[in-house]
Amino acid sequence: MTQQEERRYDYHLPDYVLHRPRTRIVCTVGPATESVATICDLIRAGMSVARLNLSHGTAEDHLQYLENIRRAAEIMDVPIGVLADLPGPKYRTGDSGGANIRLETGQNFTLTAERAPSTNQKAAVWPAGLHRDIVAGSRVIVDEGAIELDVQQVEGREIHCKVAAGGILQSRKAVTAPGHTSTLDYFTDETNSALNFAMEAGVEFIGLSYVRNREDIRRVRERLSKSPDKLQLIAKIEVAEAVRNLRSILHEVDGVMVARGDLGVELPIENVPGLQRRIVRMANEAGKVVIVATQMLESMIESPHPTRAEASDVYNAIQEGADAIMLSGETSIGRYPARTVEYMAQIARRAEVEMDFEGFLQGRRDALLEQGQSVDDAIAYSAVRTASILDASVILAFTESGSTAARVASFRPYAPLMAVVRDPDARPRLSLRWGVIAVNAPKLMWVQEIFLEGSRAALESGFSSDGDLAVVVAGMPIGVPGNTNMLRVVRIPEPKRRF
Ligand code: PEP
Repeated sequence: MTQQEERRYDYHLPDYVLHRPRTRIVCTVGPATESVATICDLIRAGMSVARLNLSHGTAEDHLQYLENIRRAAEIMDVPIGVLADLPGPKYRTGDSGGANIRLETGQNFTLTAERAPSTNQKAAVWPAGLHRDIVAGSRVIVDEGAIELDVQQVEGREIHCKVAAGGILQSRKAVTAPGHTSTLDYFTDETNSALNFAMEAGVEFIGLSYVRNREDIRRVRERLSKSPDKLQLIAKIEVAEAVRNLRSILHEVDGVMVARGDLGVELPIENVPGLQRRIVRMANEAGKVVIVATQMLESMIESPHPTRAEASDVYNAIQEGADAIMLSGETSIGRYPARTVEYMAQIARRAEVEMDFEGFLQGRRDALLEQGQSVDDAIAYSAVRTASILDASVILAFTESGSTAARVASFRPYAPLMAVVRDPDARPRLSLRWGVIAVNAPKLMWVQEIFLEGSRAALESGFSSDGDLAVVVAGMPIGVPGNTNMLRVVRIPEPKRRF
């Protein structure tokens, strides 16, 4: 250890970290949650990741949110990851200047590719391109079903429609044509500037809206290769093409999101529960993070209590295998943001108590056997299996890049899982991983140092007492990222030996 690194690291954990559910809670930050104090409340209630929806608001807003999130994380001493959600090749309504524009069922209405303020006769759809994707007879859905339009005729850059279901037309709301996936280039102007923002601002995760295939993701990765940060990509599965290409998409990304809002518009709403189950299962089998999103506790935007159906939805998503569950309007514009997170955390904790850990582990093992040999996965699986057989007090994953801890987490250990990392930036990078509690440690040179430091971390964090067993998993040689190949069981406290 260098002199600077000889300082003693503190592994005591605050109560709100110890009692946080293992399922990660992602909160969209917005006008209702922009202050540092409110973000601290969200963290206290159980938030692990903050989401910036770059389809709404200005770059200045998002910079301010980001600064406040970082400040709150520092105050609360918890690594909070930031997920920046890119707009992607998604059509949206133009600006209605705050006016309440009402469309009546049966009236004529035109969508145009020319930028102009919306009226009750015509509205811009942006980026320009919808007129190329659809034909007479197509149906266009605005604002996730708030308005439905039947296309009568496409004339140049104008789409003439009849309003099939009227409603209020608002600015920047999603415009979709089920069955006609957007043919826009992935990098629309908005997506380009949002990606530049995310790269410059330094976030941990990038959410890719409207991904269609692996090529979309490869192109984003190529752009990110110029960034020194290790940004993780989360593909939002929300169009039929992405569902069809799910296996190849999973190869390219760090995680996926079941983006149920758009998914339920692009595909029949009754397909969403089954698709959610399938996406979660396939992501679990691939060892990738999966977030279930949208309308989880929607009624709490206005109400202080969730509905029974919402409680069941959160519970079921966790039982199905979600690593993370997400709040959107509930925390960005809702009346009870921290209370919503508290409810979500309570339901999550309950779902975890009633989780079939053995069944999950068995399922992952079967999937591994089908996928072929991987030393890293075999060691991670064995760590979880060993901890279960020995009723170990904790699993300690010593990890350089975070990948060892991420692998162990993908097997859903019953024992608490501590990721012991040297690089402070690796901690928020693990914030989407189910159950991982990431702590900072000094640089360790020798194997024996790992056992000693691990033993101290296990005791100080409160997970272990004298005489307990702990499972240690790490990569050798020490300090080389992405190599999970060592497993050992230690009895706490590990005796100090000369090395
Ligand atoms: C969704 O469609 O469910 C989603 C999460 O995406 P967005 O919030 O961008 O609509």
